[in-house]
Amino acid sequence: MESYSPNNLAISVEKQHPAKIAKASFPLRYGKYSEIRTSEYEFLFNLNGEIKFIRGLNTRWPHPAEQLKRTDGNDWVYYTVGDKSSADGIISWLGEYYLPCLPYPSNSIWEINYFANPEIMNGFAAWSQLYANLYESKKERVHTKAKELISSIINNHDRVLLERSRKLNEIIGERVSVLPPDTRHVDYEIIPLAISDGCLYHCSFCCVKSARKFQARSKTNIIEQISKLKEFYGRNLENYSGLFLGNHDALGAGVELICNSAKEAYSAFGFEKQGKMTPFLFLFGSVHSLLRSEDELFERLDHLPYHTFINIGLESCDAPTLAQIGKPLDNTEVLEAFDKMVEINAIYENIEVTGNFVIGKGLSDDHNQSLKELLRNAVVTSNAKGTIYLSPLKDSHKKRELLPLINEIKEQSKIPTYIYLIQRL
Ligand code: SF4
Repeated sequence: MESYSPNNLAISVEKQHPAKIAKASFPLRYGKYSEIRTSEYEFLFNLNGEIKFIRGLNTRWPHPAEQLKRTDGNDWVYYTVGDKSSADGIISWLGEYYLPCLPYPSNSIWEINYFANPEIMNGFAAWSQLYANLYESKKERVHTKAKELISSIINNHDRVLLERSRKLNEIIGERVSVLPPDTRHVDYEIIPLAISDGCLYHCSFCCVKSARKFQARSKTNIIEQISKLKEFYGRNLENYSGLFLGNHDALGAGVELICNSAKEAYSAFGFEKQGKMTPFLFLFGSVHSLLRSEDELFERLDHLPYHTFINIGLESCDAPTLAQIGKPLDNTEVLEAFDKMVEINAIYENIEVTGNFVIGKGLSDDHNQSLKELLRNAVVTSNAKGTIYLSPLKDSHKKRELLPLINEIKEQSKIPTYIYLIQRL
């Protein structure tokens, strides 16, 4: 790591943090980044010189472990530790030490508007000031490596970053409106690759659905995306360990398309590089796609060089609730899918199937009771694979009032159970 200190800026051109994303209360740092520190803020840039994190170092910043993170979709998300950072804090609800506060409406239990906090907003002002100072420093004598970094930061100004997020959507065909909850294991840092569009059900409760009918992409389209994505991510590819096969029901795309796309991406994106963690493969699946999937798919997924997470939208095992939320499924199909999920998790070492259930004020007690019963009686092995995610309905008012119910479900569940926060890329 080489450091320079022109104009009271501490510049580290390239800092190597652990490649593996650890779950820790502090600090949240991984991969290779450039860093610039002023007396009051720390700014991190990815290997393309794009701003990635801003963290306040002054005593007015809300908490030393909190920070602003810019996503590849160009959203600024504020990571808060919540009211308490102990074992019964955010970690017990989300399985992570941080609650991502999103700059757009979602289904979060905790409505935290970070825009209303002047100290956090000062972080953005400090970023603008740093950019202006770096622009000015172009005329000054600075070491070549620091100069190269400064120039790539300057080239990635706000308009360029916005344009790049549009470009990413153009490559994959549409914006990823929701990420699987399991992508929390890589801090939501995934490379998206669309292998299908649309979904089977078009449920009325869903706030992220697309209007398209389910259709798998062609092999040519997928190969073209991989090549464009490789160019798009450039040097920063090495900071990724997660691949998301999109979109809402990639499991329905079939064994050949899923496994071949994952393999192509593995070599194109350099996931095989020595010293890196085992990469993660994420996909969504519907109940019918799971029930239709044969053993061959799971055998082949289990032998891929990934740890695979398949997230299934189960929603409810109570028939009137399925009708109420407009999910065109029979509750026996949901129960069958749940059993298959448990079975796959027990058999395959490198596959983890997780399931989502809805919760909300307007849902009946029968729904809540049937869910508790299902999770209480689940016959699971001791390795605790296959998290259950509870997804608050977006239109459910007073979401905080759901916490006692969530607690009751968690206490009775034999499977790790967390809240699902809907996030886009
Ligand atoms: S919940 Fe899943 S299946 Fe239903 S509309 Fe939304 S994306 Fe499609």
